[in-house]
Amino acid sequence: MTEPRRPLMAGNWKMNVNHFEAIALVQKLAFALSDKDLEAVDVLVLPPFTDLRSVQTLIDGDRYRIAYGAQDISVHESGAYTGEISGSMLAKLGCSYVLAGHSERREHHAEVDEIVAAKVRSAQRHSMIPILCVGERLEIRREARHVEYVLGQVEAALGDLSTEALSAIVFAYEPVWAIGTGEVATPEDAQEVCGAIRGLVSQRSESAGESVRILYGGSVKMSSVAGIMAQPDIDGCLVGGASLDPDEFIGIVRYRLLAQADQV
Ligand code: PEP
Repeated sequence: MTEPRRPLMAGNWKMNVNHFEAIALVQKLAFALSDKDLEAVDVLVLPPFTDLRSVQTLIDGDRYRIAYGAQDISVHESGAYTGEISGSMLAKLGCSYVLAGHSERREHHAEVDEIVAAKVRSAQRHSMIPILCVGERLEIRREARHVEYVLGQVEAALGDLSTEALSAIVFAYEPVWAIGTGEVATPEDAQEVCGAIRGLVSQRSESAGESVRILYGGSVKMSSVAGIMAQPDIDGCLVGGASLDPDEFIGIVRYRLLAQADQV
């Protein structure tokens, strides 16, 4: 029998929160989240690079069961790449996850599919889990080409990855029109694309299709998380704005309680 997939709630802090604020934010999360919360859900924070050492020291020192990772990774191993951060540097800081291909990187830093594919490989070379972000812009959805478009992004990033490497990726479906806009995809819209991603992975490897985690991202809040998490192919959320508010993020992590309250 296959293991149930563990939900993952990831907070992408983007370019917010300095290293002092990062310590306070992680402490608030750690104090509020109970063992029961953390047994049910994997919790991950993705601070800016400059916060990582402080976050590492806090989490390791106090043995918090919160994972941390980076928002980006260089495709290069080392050398004359001013401003870049390598996989070995991130691994040395204890990062366990790295975002690859976030839409803001694709849009503002011209990260095309080939670069995203190289970032996925760069993370895996250093034993970190890439969170491969994919998603369509509004005009593509209006033309009803969103599923084919997103699957194209996934195919381009996967290339000829082995089954083992494929199983070690987390996917994040983030429709660009929903990121930071307050406009959440309906649970059914999110499920349509997440289900299609799982279908594509399953074609390559049935076991990978069953085990990989697929997140939804795009203006997720406490008020919308339960419906999204009720979908069969959605295993967690990538949360931007709401992850900066500890009460909101804690509420998102506790989506099960919200779902139960809805049923009463
Ligand atoms: C994100 O940054 O990945 C994201 C989904 O942002 P927001 O939740 O603010 O839409």
